[in-house]
Amino acid sequence: MTCPTRPKSAYNPVVTERPPRPPRAEPREVVELKQLRTAQPELGSAVDMQLALVDMQRRVQARVPLPWIQVDPEWVRSQQAAGRPLVRFSDVPLEWSDFRLIFRQTADILHRYETLERGDYQKIVSLGREGNALEPLVRQWYDNTSGVSADARTRASGDAPAGLDQVLLLALRPFLARCAEALTQRTDLSHWTHGHCPFCGWEPDFAVITPTADRRLICGRCLGQWAFSALTCPFCSNDERTLITSFATRDGRYRVYACDVCRRYLKAYDARNASRPVMVAVDSIATLPLDAAAMQRGYIG
Ligand SMILES: [Zn+2]
Ligand SMILES: [Zn+2]
Repeated sequence: MTCPTRPKSAYNPVVTERPPRPPRAEPREVVELKQLRTAQPELGSAVDMQLALVDMQRRVQARVPLPWIQVDPEWVRSQQAAGRPLVRFSDVPLEWSDFRLIFRQTADILHRYETLERGDYQKIVSLGREGNALEPLVRQWYDNTSGVSADARTRASGDAPAGLDQVLLLALRPFLARCAEALTQRTDLSHWTHGHCPFCGWEPDFAVITPTADRRLICGRCLGQWAFSALTCPFCSNDERTLITSFATRDGRYRVYACDVCRRYLKAYDARNASRPVMVAVDSIATLPLDAAAMQRGYIG
């Protein structure tokens, strides 16, 4: 007697042959950063640190939902008239476990690339571990630095470890960027004439000159953008043209605006004859030699 055999398909399920999946295309800014590393090997370490930060931020930001921020038009008008930004801490779609992860990993990356000293790194990491310390710290830091409900803005307190501002800023970015994204679609910013960010209140860290020769500032924290007069200093409002020094790179791709009153400067990407839009993650690294040039002339970032 022959043993009953099971249908063959149970042993050899029909497998449809699929062509191997092509590797997922790298994000444009990653491609650009790698090209930059090849073209300017002296920027290698800065590029590698940026690649690590960009990769981590993209992974977290992909999980952050676009928040629905309730903005009453009357409140928006009054906030804008008072120069106060729009994102309240309670609007930020913070997932604390994600935040803890990115806070820790940001500190790891900055320490690995020698941007954070060991002692400060250890203090920051232990802040992140203390269950009850981090949440109020982040809330207070945001309230103090955004000016949403007060005019004065301050940074981390004096006894905070050096570099804490930067770790908080980078760790909060994926969450705040989602807020700026949500509000950009729904808010009229044409009356915002201030040098600080209309979404989170931080300072601009970069700018773009649009094809119509307008200047848009880009927030150093949430990456939100807003229009601002091209020859006014966003840091001290100096608009005396003879007291604004502006110079460009030889290829015309980047420009520096420096203020001869407060001595601060801002870099810009000139999109007028450009082949791609501004990419802050790339352009801020590509312009590190410009920072050196500006500082050599006695300006501060
Ligand atoms: Zn901002
Ligand atoms: Zn100034």
